[in-house]
Amino acid sequence: MSTNPFTNATKQLENAAGFLNLDKNILEILKNPKRILEVSIPVKMDSGETKVFKGYRSQYNDALGPFKGGIRFHPKVNLSEVKALSAWMTWKCAVVGLPLGGGKGGVIVDPKRLSDKEMEKLSRGYVQAMKDFIGPEKDIPAPDVYTTPQMMAWMMDEFSRIKGYNIPGVVTGKPIEVGGARGRKFSTAQGGIYVLEKAVKRLKMNSEKTTVAIQGFGNAGSFIAKILSALGYNIVAISDSKGGIVRDNNRAIEAGFPIGSPASERAKHSLDIKDVIKFKKETGSVVGFPGTKTITNEQLLKLDVDVLIPAALENVITEKNASRIKAKLIIELANGPITPEADLKLEKKGIIVVPDILANAGGVIVSYFEWVQNLQNYYWTEKENISKLKTIIEKSFDEVWGKKECLNISMRLAAYVVAVERVARAEKLRRGL
Ligand code: NAD
Repeated sequence: MSTNPFTNATKQLENAAGFLNLDKNILEILKNPKRILEVSIPVKMDSGETKVFKGYRSQYNDALGPFKGGIRFHPKVNLSEVKALSAWMTWKCAVVGLPLGGGKGGVIVDPKRLSDKEMEKLSRGYVQAMKDFIGPEKDIPAPDVYTTPQMMAWMMDEFSRIKGYNIPGVVTGKPIEVGGARGRKFSTAQGGIYVLEKAVKRLKMNSEKTTVAIQGFGNAGSFIAKILSALGYNIVAISDSKGGIVRDNNRAIEAGFPIGSPASERAKHSLDIKDVIKFKKETGSVVGFPGTKTITNEQLLKLDVDVLIPAALENVITEKNASRIKAKLIIELANGPITPEADLKLEKKGIIVVPDILANAGGVIVSYFEWVQNLQNYYWTEKENISKLKTIIEKSFDEVWGKKECLNISMRLAAYVVAVERVARAEKLRRGL
């Protein structure tokens, strides 16, 4: 069993290549990142001491367009993870038909230990270190785990300062005031909703009665929880890095919701997501939310729910726990939450997995709109962005579902077949292979 993300990403590519009978010369190109950058970023800390942080950027493939992908700030960032994430970005942009390639960045840092001033210096330092390799025509970073719109504003400002004029198209995921796209902040979740609703219909599930567990309560996880809850889905469990919570009818009543009141009726079925968001803001975690029982992140994955949404980190469903997953449908809002070995087990159990490269593509689709708007200096409304997102992601879902049905393969393999075929064709045309 491998939990090396890049080994897993390569395996996924090879599976698709085998299926497509791909020319081995093209496969050789597709298996390797085009460029890897490793930099040291010195930051003068508030204490006066200078600390040096390690940063990476993997520019995987740009056959379809400039590299595109987020920057992760996390203590566990490593080169294998960054390379895997950059490969997945390549297939993600391709499967939804964007004229973009794939890249990803990361910095080894625990952002919770840095002050705002130190975070600003680190964000600007990352851009200074990468300045010759990023830009609207080269490589366009964006937020990922523990990086925020504010940090994108600092990065855009730093790049513009270095070049001497405003270049908003160097990063996406910026605040609206400095060239961000309207709707970008919930676009990953919204894209997840569109594919989830399509899958729920195909599987003939009833959204009113559908129970959902969500792992991770950051940008992706909290927005999908909020939208699902507004649509009437029953969110029974959620988690963050400190642990998970599952609704508990008895405790909901103990928590003081009067029996028969709208609050107690709601609490019987679903967590009140608006209140959970408020609770997390006040206490720093979802754990301890009234009317719930505390569980571990591992227990959350094995709950008897209809839909499971991993929305935190990779490799959470492995060969070890795959046989105990009970959900009928998994929407991979996180990147790489299921290992290839676990994938096979889930497939045998008949669990439908909507793969990350399709399920969480909403973020990069609206990032693409942001980049287009920055280049043309003409901005669309939130409604325009979201309706264009819907058109693209639903069409991509239908394409992948069609491929899955027609070839009798898993959704992941179908998505990879569509994506790899597109990138391979571009490589072939450009290189004359
Ligand atoms: P975020 O930083 O906003 O949130 C991360 C969440 O994960 C937090 O709730 C955190 O508490 C939780 N978490 C961290 N470590 C955990 C652990 N060990 N166990 C359980 N939970 C843990 O990040 P995000 O932007 O929501 O990204 C989450 C996932 O979605 C990542 O895999 C990311 O690559 C993917 N993704 C995000 C976007 C986007 O636009 N934000 C787009 C595509 C994919």
